[in-house]
Amino acid sequence: MLTKVIEQTKIDHFTKWLERADKIVIVSHVSPDGDAIGSSLGLWHFLDAQDKAVNVIVPNAFPDFLKWMPGSRDILLYDRYKEFAGKLIAEADVICCLDFNALKRIDSMADAVAASPARKIMIDHHLHPEDFCDITVSHPEISSTSELIFRLLCRMGSFSDISKEGAECIYTGMMTDTGGFTYNSNSREIYFIISELLSKGIDKDDIYRKVYNTYSESRLRLMGHVLSEMKVYTPYNAALISLTRAEQGKYDYIKGDSEGFVNIPLSIKNVCFTCFLREDTEKQMIKISLRSVGKFPCNKFAADFFNGGGHLNASGGEYFGSMAEAVKVFEQGLEKYKELLNA
Ligand code: 5GP
Ligand code: MN
Repeated sequence: MLTKVIEQTKIDHFTKWLERADKIVIVSHVSPDGDAIGSSLGLWHFLDAQDKAVNVIVPNAFPDFLKWMPGSRDILLYDRYKEFAGKLIAEADVICCLDFNALKRIDSMADAVAASPARKIMIDHHLHPEDFCDITVSHPEISSTSELIFRLLCRMGSFSDISKEGAECIYTGMMTDTGGFTYNSNSREIYFIISELLSKGIDKDDIYRKVYNTYSESRLRLMGHVLSEMKVYTPYNAALISLTRAEQGKYDYIKGDSEGFVNIPLSIKNVCFTCFLREDTEKQMIKISLRSVGKFPCNKFAADFFNGGGHLNASGGEYFGSMAEAVKVFEQGLEKYKELLNA
């Protein structure tokens, strides 16, 4: 049995909307990840099986390792089909905002979604949701939005309507937002849900391989290079890896190739905080990713030094300056947070 996480009044309210809605749009955040696509398609499979016009729209492209997901070919990319997607958003009866907590997270789609007269629901697990939806289902204690979608469908009495395809999408989102159930994944109920998803016939081992073991040779060689240049700050239990534009060129870097790199130094004994600095190919800035294990607050560090934020164990930010300067800023941060890093 699952604990009742989502408030009943919100479920009743949303159910009523759905009964009356013909046109539904599901939107998720820029540079969609496994949970953005997984939760969106999980809900899409359920609604699409009913007599409704349902579309998933995301601001821009998502990585190739998610393209096997059932339904992913029908996802509309706003930056490519702006006019058509804009019309769907404007004419929707209901817009479901999944896996993001602020309009700015949907980039160029924000104005269109804000202007639409549709009823809007947020289903998300990021801290501090902004108030732009009529119903806000926000649960930072839940490790993925996909898990929230599963919980919502069950509470709507629709477990039996979850298809194998829908279950595959939900599982993918739960798996990717917990690093294959290696962080934020100590809740017993996660494993109850997995058991229920397995009852739909999903092959979880195959899903793991499709998501994590389909990289290119050049990506593996890039990983080798980046790790050989890694800096380890033993007195601070921290590590740093970086990737310049020149290195990206040398290793035929394509978007997504450095996915997961930031986590690797956490496999070193005693390292509990890592940083990955990547020169952006489009904007003149350095993208920062931070990860920690335990209580070290990555989100505070990101806010303090890199104008960013995020979760306790996973955060990010941006830096406008050179790689050497960004490394210096990180090292100053280590000094400031010395005590917490040694706790
Ligand atoms: P990632 O390292 O995977 O890009 O980001 C990890 C988490 O950090 C994201 O889920 C998001 O919550 C947060 N994050 C990443 N970049 C930024 C940023 O530039 N600003 C803020 N406020 N949060 C970010
Ligand atoms: Mn998520």
